[in-house]
Amino acid sequence: MNIILLGPPGAGKGTQSAGLVERHGMRQLSTGDMLRAAVKAGTPVGLKAKEVMERGELVSDEIVSDLIDAELAAMAPETGAIFDGYPRTAAQADALDAILAKNGRALDHVIELEVDEDALVERITGRFSCAKCGALYHDTANPPETEGVCDACGSTEFKRRPDDNEETVRTRMQEYRAKTAPILPGYEARGIVSRIDGMAAIETVAGQIDAILRS
Ligand code: AMP
Repeated sequence: MNIILLGPPGAGKGTQSAGLVERHGMRQLSTGDMLRAAVKAGTPVGLKAKEVMERGELVSDEIVSDLIDAELAAMAPETGAIFDGYPRTAAQADALDAILAKNGRALDHVIELEVDEDALVERITGRFSCAKCGALYHDTANPPETEGVCDACGSTEFKRRPDDNEETVRTRMQEYRAKTAPILPGYEARGIVSRIDGMAAIETVAGQIDAILRS
């Protein structure tokens, strides 16, 4: 099973990917996470991507497609892939088709999480994660059970993404509208697109995604 989760920043792609990994043993391929790891490690890719990401613009198609190509090639063929935050442009969608074909895989579903853009800024600027295990939280919607302590690993250190500020979020949304949304019609023509209300509760969205995967 190979699926794409699509939606503007803050739509819940990361949260839903984590749930799919846990429930179905699929693998999350997040180009955003890969790029953040590269920035942290100071690799040549990270050095190129850092400022682009801080501005909320898209890094080059070649960089992200190479990252996906390498990750997918290293995966066991029976492990399902969740593409989270990739593809984001028409060129990336074409590259993904070629990468999947090379690995003997096919795309089963493209799931778009639809969201109210005004609510997104609040969603994004309130989010944070455990610095140790990466568990995702939100100031009001999903805080840890005990304030300041990670539910999953007990760590007391948390972090926020540097690009989760209002100005950068607006640029990221613009990029989504201008470059990512236009790739949907191509997938619709193949009959593999499903849409979900991404503003619903996390468990509701998860249930709807599972129903699509069973269909
Ligand atoms: P994300 O974590 O998916 O919101 O991505 C964070 C940032 O990483 C984006 O705002 C882009 O700067 C960059 N990025 C992540 N994935 C891609 C992609 N597929 N194409 C281009 N840039 C990307």
